[in-house]
This record gives sequence, C-alpha cells and structure tokens, in this order.
Amino acid sequence: MSEAMPRVVIVGGGFGGLAAAKALRKSNVEVIVIDRQNHHLFQPLLYQVATSVLSPGQIASPIRGILKRQRNTTVILGEVTGVDVERRRVFVDSMDRVGVAVEYDYLILATGASHSYFGHDEFEPFAPGLKSLADAVSIRNRILQAFEQAEAEEDPKRHDDLLTFVLVGAGPTGVEMAGAIAELVRQSLRSEFRRIDPTSARIILVDAGKRVLGAFPETLAAAATRRLEKLGVEVRLGHGVEHIDADRASVAGEHIASKTVIWTAGVAPSPAGTWLHAATDHAGRVRVQPDLTVSGHPEIFVVGDTASLDQDGRPLPGVAQVAIQQGRYAARLIRRRITGQAALKPFRYFDKGTMAVVGKGFAVLHSGWVNLSGFLAWMAWAAVHLQFLAQSSLRVSVFVQWVWTYLTGQRGARLIVNYHESRSWAKPSIQDAASKGGNGREQ
Ligand SMILES: Cc1cc2nc3c(=O)[nH]c(=O)nc-3n(C[C@H](O)[C@H](O)[C@H](O)COP(=O)(O)OP(=O)(O)OC[C@H]3O[C@@H](n4cnc5c(N)ncnc54)[C@H](O)[C@@H]3O)c2cc1C
Repeated sequence: MSEAMPRVVIVGGGFGGLAAAKALRKSNVEVIVIDRQNHHLFQPLLYQVATSVLSPGQIASPIRGILKRQRNTTVILGEVTGVDVERRRVFVDSMDRVGVAVEYDYLILATGASHSYFGHDEFEPFAPGLKSLADAVSIRNRILQAFEQAEAEEDPKRHDDLLTFVLVGAGPTGVEMAGAIAELVRQSLRSEFRRIDPTSARIILVDAGKRVLGAFPETLAAAATRRLEKLGVEVRLGHGVEHIDADRASVAGEHIASKTVIWTAGVAPSPAGTWLHAATDHAGRVRVQPDLTVSGHPEIFVVGDTASLDQDGRPLPGVAQVAIQQGRYAARLIRRRITGQAALKPFRYFDKGTMAVVGKGFAVLHSGWVNLSGFLAWMAWAAVHLQFLAQSSLRVSVFVQWVWTYLTGQRGARLIVNYHESRSWAKPSIQDAASKGGNGREQ
C-alpha cells in the first residue's frame, strides 16, 4: 500500500505481538500495534492478583509506555473485528468509531486465547475463568466476599458452602491457584475472623485427567500433588465436572456445595481463523506454515496462542516463550523480505523449560533432562518471572512484595473492589438538604 515505508500492522500487544513490535524497532517500516486493552498483561502472575498477593498494576503496563521510545511505532486502542485479505486491511472498532479500515503491507495476528468451557458455556456465569485483569479482580472479589459473607452469617450450618472453593482444571493455573488460596486461608486470614475459622475452608482441585500438571513428567506431578495435599488441598482426579450452578459443582455424581467455582481448564483461540477463512486445527487455532504465514498469504503471520504449528510431530504448547519466539521470528522474516535478503529457515521453538508454583517456597521445574522440585525450583521460578515482567519498575515492586509476603504472610492487595460508580444515597441532594432545614438530616 505505501510507497516508501512498508506498514506492519500487529494485532495484539501480548507476548507475541510485543516481541514482534520490539524486534522491528530499528527497521525501516511503519509499525502499528492495535490492542483492545491499553496494557500488556503478564498472564503467568494473574493468579497472584486473583489471590490478593499482587495488585493489577504490578503485572500490567501500558503498551504505549513500553513502546514509547520506538519512533516508528504507533499504538492504537481498538478491537479488530475482521480482516479483508484481498484488500489488505483490518477493521477496527475504536473508542468512538466502528469498522475503521487500517491498511497493511504485512500483518501479524497475535490475538491470544480466551476460556473454553468444552461445549458447556452455561457454566461460565458460575465458574469464571482467569485470562484478563478484570477476571482476576472479579475472582479476588468472589474469594474475599465468601469469607465476609460467612462471617456475617450467624448460622454455622451455612458456612460450609461459602467456605468451599472448587477449581476445575489441574494444569499449571489450577495448581497455582489452589496452592495460593491454601496459603491465603492458612496464613493471611487465619486470625482475622471471629465467627468462622478460615483454616477450615475446603479447596478442591478437580481434573478429568489421571494426574495434575499433565504436561510435566510424572515424578514432578506426584511431587506437586503431595505438596498440594500437605497444604490441605483435596485433589480429585479422573472425573470431569458434570454440572455447575450457583450453589454446587457436580463431580462423579457427587454434588459439592460451593458458592465459588473457578474455571482453570481449557482455552479457546481468538477468532483469527474465521477472519482469514483459513484452515484451523480441532481447537480453532490457525494452521500456519513452517514460516508462520498463512497458506497462500505470505504477508500474513499468525503467532502465539492463536496459531497452530507442529514440531517433531507434536503441537507447540500455548506458552509465553512460544509466542515471544514466534513474534521475533515473524519480525525478522519481514525485515529480510523488505531488505531483499534470503528467507529464514523454518521456525523452530527452543524450549527453555516449564515451571509451576505450588504454594509458598515450592515449585516444580522441567527443563530438558532437569527435573527439580522444592525451594530451588521456586527460586528459579521467581527469578525467571521477575526477568520477564515488562518494565523494571514492576520488577522492583513485585520483588519487594514477594519478600514481604514471604516473611510476613501479608498480601499486597486484599481488597474487594466492585467497579461501579460510588452511590450517592448517603449524601442527600442540595434540594433535600434545603427542604430539611439545611443540614440534610431528618429532623
Ligand atoms: C492464568 C494464566 C497463566 C499462565 N501461566 C503461564 C506460565 O506460567 N508460563 C507460560 O509460559 N505461559 C503461561 N500462560 C500462557 C501465556 O500467557 C500465553 O501462552 C501467552 O500469553 C500467549 O501470548 P499471545 O501473544 O499469543 O497472546 P496474549 O499474550 O494473550 O496477547 C493477546 C493480546 O491480543 C489482544 N487482543 C485479542 N483479541 C483482540 C482483538 N480482536 N483486537 C485487538 N486486540 C486483541 C489482547 O488484548 C491481548 O493483549 C498463562 C496463561 C494464563 C491465562
């Protein structure tokens, strides 16, 4: 479209999109990053916001701020709703306009994933998933409100369902959430209530699989299970959830009375495949070529959670490192094309390893031949996660909070915040005040 400077439009300022944008900073291209959120979110620490360790501002940064020194890059807050592959443009709904066409020479789609309820979308209102900051704050509210509601309830018989937390899905997010809720109730909340004993709370982790952390080696899964059980988490494997409503979750015919069910199971990709009318895998992720482009469209790249690519006969996992490495690869390939250099070798993911935390001071780590569990793995987990936060100010703030929480058990953001405007019922209007003799109080 443009004569001199080719334009690269990147949809999504998550791990993949941001990595691509940064890799293009010295290139002779115009970069436009479009995201429906104004911030880049560090999803691996979302569970710590949901369990009150960190506050939202400690795991997210404005995309505009991260890219402020990148003169060739413009950031647009807007939601992409479709792609016209023939005329090379995307359609964007922004704050006050609908369907604005933004043209591109190269397009990188890095739109991530959302929750999948495996065909049971009716569970969603009762079992929220954890994907965004809003989800994390909403889950934090639910967990903390359950304790407040139980404390206000005089009848002890009605405490049980309020203090039963069910987590559906024993992958890394479910395991991390379960461990963090256990620490919350046994450490931070234990001495603050009078009518209830927070340590009596039940935390139940359910999965249809035969073990927790299915993607980890068996020894690490067993170590994580032992640790969870030591923290008081009930691990129930081999049966999926059959039903969820406002009062219960049903597993293997048993009705577990619970007011707080959290969905930590499946993910569904963004609708990028529908926009492109491209081939997708069984989960709906766009099948990409070995160079991450879409078949028949060498100018369109799809990276990260919304792309599907096999390596050594197995699909690449939906993790941050895949998205980052793919984002960088797409940027390098675009640079080479523009400068007339030879194409790159097909994309190859370099697996640096996977980790999951199970409560305070304990993690499991799998990297190549190394399988580690315990405190050392937790130190490695902490170092890696600090390193990958988007800005140095966040690294300092999260590090200080972790040390504080580790030493004192106190959490950084144990707040119930419902995001609606404050009500004015406590403040009478000027007219009311005048009619009641000036100070607004009933005479
Ligand atoms: C709770 C949780 C814990 C996780 N823990 C780990 C972990 O410990 N280690 C690990 O490696 N991975 C972890 N992951 C997975 C990891 O976060 C993802 O693999 C990674 O974020 C994928 O990067 P991405 O760029 O594809 O998508 P994302 O990082 O999700 O970014 C997608 C971006 O696209 C934007 N977007 C989406 N649709 C549109 C649209 N239509 N228009 C405009 N913008 C749009 C979104 O706002 C978002 O900013 C975790 C994920 C979750 C949810």
